[in-house]
Order: sequence, then C-alpha cells, then structure tokens
Amino acid sequence: MAEIRLDRVTRTFGAVVAVDSVSLEIEDREFLVLLGPSGCGKSTVLRLIAGLERPSAGTVYIAGRDVTGVAPRDRDLAMVFQSYALYPHMSVFDNIAFGIRRRDLSRHELKEAVNATARRLGIDGLLDRRPGQLSGGQRQRVALARAIVRRPVAFLMDEPLSNLDAKLRVQTRRELARLHEDLQTTTVYVTHDQVEAMTLGQRVAIIAAGRLQQVGRPQDVYDRPANLFVAGFIGSPPMNIVPLERTATGFQSAGGEIHVDGAHVPPGAPETLALGFRPEALQIGVPEGPAAIAFSAPLLVAEHLGAQVNLECAAGGASFVAVAPGHVRATPGESIPFWCAPGDLHFFDTRTGERLP
Ligand code: ATP
Repeated sequence: MAEIRLDRVTRTFGAVVAVDSVSLEIEDREFLVLLGPSGCGKSTVLRLIAGLERPSAGTVYIAGRDVTGVAPRDRDLAMVFQSYALYPHMSVFDNIAFGIRRRDLSRHELKEAVNATARRLGIDGLLDRRPGQLSGGQRQRVALARAIVRRPVAFLMDEPLSNLDAKLRVQTRRELARLHEDLQTTTVYVTHDQVEAMTLGQRVAIIAAGRLQQVGRPQDVYDRPANLFVAGFIGSPPMNIVPLERTATGFQSAGGEIHVDGAHVPPGAPETLALGFRPEALQIGVPEGPAAIAFSAPLLVAEHLGAQVNLECAAGGASFVAVAPGHVRATPGESIPFWCAPGDLHFFDTRTGERLP
C-alpha cells in the first residue's frame, strides 16, 4: 500500500498540453476519483502514474520514491480499463492467474489465490470459460479479479464501468466501494461521470483542459465549488448561473427580476459577478424563512421524473432549472414564485471564474 504524489507534472503532445503542471497527493488507502469532461487529460494523468507515459516536466512519487523514470512493471500497480483487456484465447482462470504469472508461486498457491479472488467477485463458477462466453459485467469482474489477485500497492482504474448497462453500472459501483472498504488499497479512478465520482470517491479531483480545478471531499466540492467550471460540472441538473450587475442597493440580473441585497454579497465583490444557485436549493412559494432572492418566473418546460419534477423557467433573458417534489404540477407560461435562503447562494468573479470567498 502506498501514497502517490504528482509534483508539477506536465505532459505535452506536440502543441497539445494534455496535463498542465498538476500537483496532487493521493493518500495511502485513499479512493481518489479524477473527474472531468472528455479530453481534459484525466487518462493521461493515470497513465503518467502507471508509467505508460513519461512526464514532459515534473516528478511522480509512489510511497515516497521518485518513480518518474521507473518502468510500469516495476511500479507494482494494477490497471483496470474500460475495455477489460482480457486474453480471448485464455480461460477465465488463466486470465486471472496472468496477473501473478511472474511470482514464484507453487501450483497450489496459484490456484488458491485465483480461487479466493474469483470467489470474492462471485465468478468462481466461470473459471473454465473463455472471455467470449461471458457477459460484459462478468468480463469486467474478471478484469478486476486479475488486478486484485496481484495485491498491488495501488489500483488505477480508467472508466471501468463505461461498457456496462445502467443497472449493472450501479451494482458494480457498489461492489467497487465494498471492495475498497475490504482491501483498503490506494485507488485512483478516472471517470467523466459525476455521480460515479460523488458516490465512489473519498476525494474528487476535478480536471479541465489539463489543469486541476479543485480537490476535495465530494460534499465539500458540491457545497463550495471553487470556480464556475466546478459549479457547472458537479450536481445534476447543474447549478444555475445568472450574471448580475451592481445597483444602488446590491446586485441584479439584466432584466431586473433577480435582486440580491448588498448585505448578502461577499465584501469587495467586482462590479459584475455571477450568481449561482442549485436547482434543489430553489424553493417554491412565499418565503418561509430569511430569503436572499425571491422572484417569479414563467415556466418553459416541466420534466416529470416521478420522484421529482425539473421546472425550467425563464429569467433575465436566460433559463434556469428548479427541482420540485414529484407531485408539483405546473403548466408552461404559468408564473411560479421562487425563493432561496442566503446560505444557498454562490458568487463568482465573472472575469476569472473564481468563487468569491
Ligand atoms: P476521455 O475521457 O475522452 O478519454 P481524457 O480526459 O482521458 O479523455 P486524455 O486521453 O488524457 O483525456 O487526453 C488529453 C488530451 O491529450 C486530448 O486532447 C488528447 O487528444 C491528447 N492526447 C492524449 N494522448 C495523446 C497522444 N498519444 N498523442 C497526441 N495527443 C494525445
């Protein structure tokens, strides 16, 4: 088991800066998720840790040792990919055993290790089959078993659930969380799916355009996004963002519908700023407590999801979304009163995108 540290690691491919001076510390036994949109550089970060890519600048440490120039096979890490990367001509048993082929184990020890790992993942009945005779979910379990049987210092997982259908994804996600609970092995997990990141990660590192945007516990990142990118990426539906301009008494949206009293805005705010409020923080009706914003807006579309309804409404020449309980009914064009408590507002500097303290 080991901690992993990246110190100002950069990786360029020609003119493309895939990873831009990323410094990140993953603690021993931690489950850290690298989250970001397609092309943001998260797989490259994982490959830099694995040793499959060499940094253009910066240093990678594993368990305190500088491994920047160390070959992948000498890093004692196990990778799990979206594509499973199983050997089609080998049985499930041999695919799992492949992970420990270089160890000096007796036939009996090898069998014991493979059987125990297969049992742990519920695939011990499939050991004689070939990968082609398995479902996608079973194949992913074999890939996981091959990683686990090695007892590596850390697991590196690149979108391992992407090829599974929605139901199996949720089930396998929970199994992964339980496995980590059990094995306590340092894990770095790459995904573009914020639900996966929030549910699996002890901490989440959000990346955009090769740069680290924020690292923190999922709830902290949700509660206090460091910038507009994170605010829009964490949470579903995403946080509503409305540009505001200064008035005599505070700030207001372009059409004047939304007004925030200066007392609720962080001191030293610039002339223009972006107001953020989460769809689930908007309340419907007359304020039942201290309100920092209260306004009415016409409904554009109502999306009924059973447990909740997403109300898309118009304000300030743009639209925003409110999440209401599933039983709420409203018709397009109807004006709906909303309010939001002071603690539920977020403010960002429009020029830099950074959160105002
Ligand atoms: P995805 O979720 O789509 O896999 P990602 O966030 O994992 O994306 P990376 O695969 O790390 O992104 O790629 C980051 C950037 O680096 C992209 O612009 C990609 O095109 C570029 N890139 C990655 N590998 C190479 C390579 N071998 N040669 C040239 N460019 C590359």
